[in-house]
Amino acid sequence: MAKKRVFSGTRATGRLHLGNYFGALKGYLKLQDNPDYEAIYMVMDLHAITTPYEKEKLAENTRNVIVDYLACGLDPEKSIITAQSLVPEHAYLAHILSSEITVARMQHLPTFKEKVKQHPEHVTMALLNYPVLMAADILLYKAELVPVGIDQEPHLEVAREIARKMNEKYQTTFPEPKRFATKGEYVPSLTGEGKMSKSVEGSYINLTDDLETVKRKLASAPTDSGKGEKVPEKGGVANLLSLVELLEGDEKRKKYEEMYLGEGIRYGDLKGELAEAIFSELAPIQKQRKIYEEDPSLVDRIIRGGAEKAGRIAQETLKEVKEKMGFI
Ligand code: ADP
Repeated sequence: MAKKRVFSGTRATGRLHLGNYFGALKGYLKLQDNPDYEAIYMVMDLHAITTPYEKEKLAENTRNVIVDYLACGLDPEKSIITAQSLVPEHAYLAHILSSEITVARMQHLPTFKEKVKQHPEHVTMALLNYPVLMAADILLYKAELVPVGIDQEPHLEVAREIARKMNEKYQTTFPEPKRFATKGEYVPSLTGEGKMSKSVEGSYINLTDDLETVKRKLASAPTDSGKGEKVPEKGGVANLLSLVELLEGDEKRKKYEEMYLGEGIRYGDLKGELAEAIFSELAPIQKQRKIYEEDPSLVDRIIRGGAEKAGRIAQETLKEVKEKMGFI
């Protein structure tokens, strides 16, 4: 029986952070090791230009995310690993799929509204079309599972909608892709508000941060007096407790909750322990990272090799779609 496919990617907008790691990468790794699946993981550089970007840094940022992928354990022997722009069929299929969804549907997506607020001077057609390009990324490989954080669910809904419409209208055979969730599907921000995101300064811990940097970043996370009648469900303390649960386990979280309702939490201690737990997760990744940083030609070979493999699948799907739609 043919293997089912998995597709996912991260935008090429800088180094990966804990949110990307727990929400996405942990899922990538799990599925890479499942023999029932063929996994394709890309750095989404075409997506990176949908918000303002620096031309001088695009290639470097793309390579950096690939290096982060490899350092975390993605393996070119098991997964197809490459950059989106090296497989031009993504943009081609996105154009085709954009004929199956309305402007109004795109304008109502929460992610679009958020980006409009962040970059009011840069509301481009590419930004509006972002979810359609994402649908193309997934459907091009007929992927059934997509390991991404919970923030991406509205985009997956768009991909499913487009798949259904294409299948009804043109008898294509796109599966409706489902999200593959991890325990860290929502890693909260260190600022106490919203999710950890590389576009929000002070919200994230990078996979390349050393112990001192992790401690410094945690030190500026907002807290309160340390005790009260009810454990906060929102804000700085709630976010710290979520990080404790993710990195140190449920029991540890319960212990802190009891302290909050009783004698009180000493946040200096909590943050110190949390920093150590985070860094012990990061240290082996940083060690692996060095190997790839020191061998750029190996990284380039992986990227080119991945593009060739992905390209073969992509060309086949695009050919089928064009035939079924009546192109010459
Ligand atoms: P960012 O929001 O930092 O720009 P991306 O949009 O490039 O990150 O997301 C890359 C992947 O990481 C996606 O699968 C996304 O769902 C996941 N992700 C990003 N931030 C978080 C988070 N705070 N918690 C869980 N998953 C996240």
